[in-house]
Amino acid sequence: MAAFKTLDDLGDVTGKVALVRVDLNLPMKEGRASDVTRVEAVKDTILELADKGAKVILLAHFGRPKGQRSSVLSTSMVQGDVERVLDREIMFIPEVAGPVAEQAIGILGAGDIGLMDNVRFWPGEEANDPEFARGIAANGDFYVNDAFSAAHRAHATTEGLAHFLPAYAGRAMERELKALDAALGNPQTPVAAVVGGAKVSTKLAVLENLVTKVQHLIIGGGMANTFLAAKGVDVGKSLCEHDLTDTANAIMAAADVAGCTVHLPYDVVVAKEFAPNPPSMRTCNVHEVEADEMILDVGPLAVEALGDVLKTCRTLVWNGPMGAFETPPFDAATVALARTAAALTLEGSLVSVAGGGDTVAALAHAGVAEDVTYVSTAGGAFLEWMEGKILPGVAALST
Ligand code: ADP
Ligand code: MG
Repeated sequence: MAAFKTLDDLGDVTGKVALVRVDLNLPMKEGRASDVTRVEAVKDTILELADKGAKVILLAHFGRPKGQRSSVLSTSMVQGDVERVLDREIMFIPEVAGPVAEQAIGILGAGDIGLMDNVRFWPGEEANDPEFARGIAANGDFYVNDAFSAAHRAHATTEGLAHFLPAYAGRAMERELKALDAALGNPQTPVAAVVGGAKVSTKLAVLENLVTKVQHLIIGGGMANTFLAAKGVDVGKSLCEHDLTDTANAIMAAADVAGCTVHLPYDVVVAKEFAPNPPSMRTCNVHEVEADEMILDVGPLAVEALGDVLKTCRTLVWNGPMGAFETPPFDAATVALARTAAALTLEGSLVSVAGGGDTVAALAHAGVAEDVTYVSTAGGAFLEWMEGKILPGVAALST
C-alpha cells in the first residue's frame, strides 16, 4: 500500500478551512434518510477536525443530477440527518465555489461545520475539470477525503482537489485502506476468498485477480453453477451462464498455474420452484440435479468442508452470498459459513474482510456483521479494489 497522510499529520488547524469529501448519498424515505450508516462513518473525521478548531466544509454528491441543479437532489435534503448524527448545527452553503461560498465560509468560526450543495450540480465534478477543482480549492487550506465509496471515480472532489491542496485521508478512509491492505495488499497467508452472488459475468475481473493472490478460492452462489457446468455437471434449470464456460475453464486453469485451489460445492440444495420452503426442495450431490431443478444453495456437507478450509487460513476476503439467501431456507450455507468466519475471527485466528451490498445484508442477516474484522459498505469501490485496480481517489492521496 502506498503511504498516505492522515489527520495525525496535520499541524495546528485552528481557523483553517478543511474541505472534506464525504459520502452523504443516503437512501431516502419520505424526505428523511432511512439509513444513516454513511454519516456515522464520517462522524469521527468531522468532529475531530471541528474540535481541533478547523472550519469543516463538507463536500458530497447526492443522487445523479447530471450537471444540473435540482431542488430534490440538493444536499440540504440530508442536512437534518447529518445534524442529528453529529449532534451539531451545520450551515448549508448553496454553492461550492465563488463569492457566495467564500462569504459563507467567512461567516463560519473555528470549529463550525458547513455543508456545500451537491457537487454533481456542476458538470466539472464528474468531468474532473481542473478549473472547477481550482475554484473549490481556492476557499480551502487543505483537503480531506473520507469517501472511500467514491474513490473509484476520478472526479473533481474525489481526485482533482488533491492536485491543488495538501491531501489527507480521513479516519473512515484510513480504516478502510488499512483493512483492505490487511486482506489482500499485504495479508497473512493462507488467504481464502469467498466469491458468490448471482453471476460470473459481473465478477470476472474479481475472479481473475483473486486466483493470483489467494491460496483458496471458494466459489458459491449462482456463479458456482457456471463453473460446475464448465466441468460437465448438468445443473438443470439453475441460473447459469452457459456462454461463459470457456471463461470459467480459463479461470480454473489460471488458478492451477498460480497454485490456488478452487473450491466448488459438491452437494447442493435444489428445488423445482423458487419460493420460500418449497415442497420440492431437497439436498443432493451436484451430479444428481434433475433437469427441472434449480440449485439455490450450497449443501451442508460442502459448507462443513469449507469451514474446515477457513480454519487453515489466516485471512478471508468475502464478496457475494453462497445462495439465494433472501429466501429461506436458501440462506443456510451463507449463514453457516458467515458464523464460522465470525467465530474464527473472534478467536483471533482469522482476519476477515467482507464487502458488497448483498454481502453486507447477508452478514447482518446472519447476525455477525459486528464480529468480522471489517465490513466495507463501499459497493463499486470495494469490487474494483477486489479486481486489483488502483482507485484514483486513493492514488491521489499517496505521498
Ligand atoms: P453483492 O451485492 O454482495 O456483490 P451479488 O449482487 O453479486 O452480491 O449477488 C447477490 C445475489 O445473488 C442475491 O440476490 C442472491 O439471491 C443471488 N444468488 C446467490 N446464489 C444464487 C443461486 N444459486 N441462484 C440464484 N441466485 C443466487
Ligand atoms: Mg448486489
